[in-house]
Amino acid sequence: MTKLSSNIQSVFEIQSQQKWVNKASSAKQRIDKLQRLKQVIQSRKQDVIQALHVDLRRDAETAEAELLITYGEIEHCVAELANWMAPVEVDSTPLADSRARIITEGRGIVLLFSPWNFPFALLFAPLVSIIAAGNCAMIKPNELAPNISKLAADIIRDVFDEKDVAAFEGGVALANEMLELPIDHVFFTGSPAVGKIVMTAAAKHLASVTLELGGKNPVIIDRTADLRDAAEKIAVMRNINHGQVCLCPENIWVPQEMASEFMAIVQGTFQSLYYKDGKLNPDVNGKMIDERNFDRVKSYIDDAREKGANIVFGGQADTELRSIHPTIMTDVPTNAKIMGEETFGPILNIFTYNHVDEAVSSIQQQPKPLALYIFTKDDDFIEMILSKTSSGGVTVNDCAVHFNVPALPFGGVNGSGIGAYHGKHGFTELSHQRSVLVM
Ligand code: NAD
Repeated sequence: MTKLSSNIQSVFEIQSQQKWVNKASSAKQRIDKLQRLKQVIQSRKQDVIQALHVDLRRDAETAEAELLITYGEIEHCVAELANWMAPVEVDSTPLADSRARIITEGRGIVLLFSPWNFPFALLFAPLVSIIAAGNCAMIKPNELAPNISKLAADIIRDVFDEKDVAAFEGGVALANEMLELPIDHVFFTGSPAVGKIVMTAAAKHLASVTLELGGKNPVIIDRTADLRDAAEKIAVMRNINHGQVCLCPENIWVPQEMASEFMAIVQGTFQSLYYKDGKLNPDVNGKMIDERNFDRVKSYIDDAREKGANIVFGGQADTELRSIHPTIMTDVPTNAKIMGEETFGPILNIFTYNHVDEAVSSIQQQPKPLALYIFTKDDDFIEMILSKTSSGGVTVNDCAVHFNVPALPFGGVNGSGIGAYHGKHGFTELSHQRSVLVM
């Protein structure tokens, strides 16, 4: 084991005491913490918007969405926490003269690592569940969004005593140092590759994990679909945050005879929304988070082109803006690099089918994605696709919006993640369900 920095070690020791206090805390005590968190975030609203603009060239409206996600989680918890915490009496058969109940208790100390693409909401939304469930937290905001990392750490230090929640800023070396600690749970949002490293580290201490990962999200368009509606929604969702969203549609399956019209509508949408005077408009196009990711996504296009893919639209990379043009590709061969990796950039790959089983069979051979999207007016088609595929979640006739429903658990499956959160699901995920039998 490497030597831990004294600050990390001392916070861990203080939290190792405090976790017993937090586990026994009342709904009111947890709600007080959440309300204070909301107040402080509200008072720093302009700082959040500004930091998101600098880190990601995010416009004010999408920046505000990160705040709304966080407030939504807090408000829902504040309203429901007492109910969620109530013990559940259960039947104690076959044991006569006994009482059985299930209580929920905090898991203990939770390590929280967040991604850079929604660096505010995907740090604070899980934190809400962690606090609601009566845990302590040691947090590392994402180093690739340095302005949000600093601001988030400031907010955490302002709201919490470090015995409850402590923030540490840094990169991979710090993450690895924190993963040496014998913590109780890790809540990680990031790539599948790092998810495996996190899970391996957690296994050393038998810590439980929540892994919120990514993947290549497929879309299946049925012949009954409203094609214009589907194409416009897919075009917008593919370019949001410059395509750096875990829920972005990526591989689009469209009936052969509808493909040209579909691509024409997508192109028209790209052109009308993201270009001004024939040039990429930086006011509405984000940027790749760093040079490495810019080069990575650019290389997907170059590699696919070299291997015979057809670039129907876009394909250029603007070094000055650090932006990739919204891109449509067809005929991407299976040996192209982009076929094996999550793109995390504004590229749509179009595949056509004559019979929908061709799409289903291809999706079945890929790792299970975080989301699958279906565009159709036929309920039987929906059920057929659901029965033959698996994914973390599904939205029908739109993209990504299942994320916004707190009653739905949000998470992946196998390659796209383990565990889920949002609303009560987050409370449950961050709790241990303890069985109690009184004879
Ligand atoms: P990442 O996996 O590179 O990094 C996430 C965290 O892990 C960071 O804190 C980073 O410091 C740490 N880390 C990186 N390399 C490490 C290593 N070798 N050892 C230990 N820790 C390490 O992910 P990212 O680039 O920040 O985010 C993009 C990924 O996140 C995409 O795959 C995306 O799909 C996924 N994502 C998933 C969701 C979701 O809710 N499922 C949401 C947003 C992003």
